[in-house]
Amino acid sequence: MIQIKSIEEIELMRESALIVSKTLGEIAKAIKPGISTLELDKIAEEFIRDHGAIPGFLGLYDFPNTLCMSPNEQVVHGIPNSDPLQEGDIISVDCGALKNGFYGDHAYTFAVGEIEKETKKLLDITKESLYVGIREFRTGKRVGDVGFAIQQFTESHGYGVVRELVGHGLGREMHEDPEMPNYGRRGKGKKFVEGMVVAIEPMINLGTHRIKQFSDGWTIKTADNKPSAHFEHDVAIVNGKPELLSTFKYINEALGIETNEEDEFRAN
Ligand code: MG
Ligand code: MG
Repeated sequence: MIQIKSIEEIELMRESALIVSKTLGEIAKAIKPGISTLELDKIAEEFIRDHGAIPGFLGLYDFPNTLCMSPNEQVVHGIPNSDPLQEGDIISVDCGALKNGFYGDHAYTFAVGEIEKETKKLLDITKESLYVGIREFRTGKRVGDVGFAIQQFTESHGYGVVRELVGHGLGREMHEDPEMPNYGRRGKGKKFVEGMVVAIEPMINLGTHRIKQFSDGWTIKTADNKPSAHFEHDVAIVNGKPELLSTFKYINEALGIETNEEDEFRAN
């Protein structure tokens, strides 16, 4: 069942989402060749606890850490380890936080130093596809409209859309109804209404959409070992329109990126 949120609850969710946004900003400052994903995980856990929240993933379904860290051909759900990041890697950093009984959950794929042009384009298009999808999240539209838009846009660039993992409703639970696939058919699926909050999270592969799971029971990687990108935002429907609760502002500040890509999803 879809849990509709009141304006007050959406404000609490914004607080949780912003803790994750700021945590990802701290990761952006620290990420560089030589640092391990386990060191970054510690930075994130400390920052979240210092801000009166609890890491949202730690212990959830028995996940062992604060961040899901998925480099290169890993899609999502990678477990932090002591291997140093290398120049030219990309790494999806997915983070959750729980505060006031509500979860924030969002993700960004970082470049470590200089990366290949073809990989940079994958990151740019995947991030853009997130906004293409968010634009469809408004009253009257349906789950299939978001998926259709993301799929159409990313496949037009020759990329593969992961099928087995999807976005989701967000609230007092990390994963609520509805499921939000990054593929679909226009006009199909559950209808969006005022007060819905979802995490939209395209997982897009440079090559095939097919994936494999590691024997650790967590890590998902591409079947052809080509790179995969992942970006995720928390979005509410307010006054019929999509409003971002999370922001990449802190990441952009840390990395010196100037963009107005989030402006259309802010309340006036
Ligand atoms: Mg996430
Ligand atoms: Mg999520």
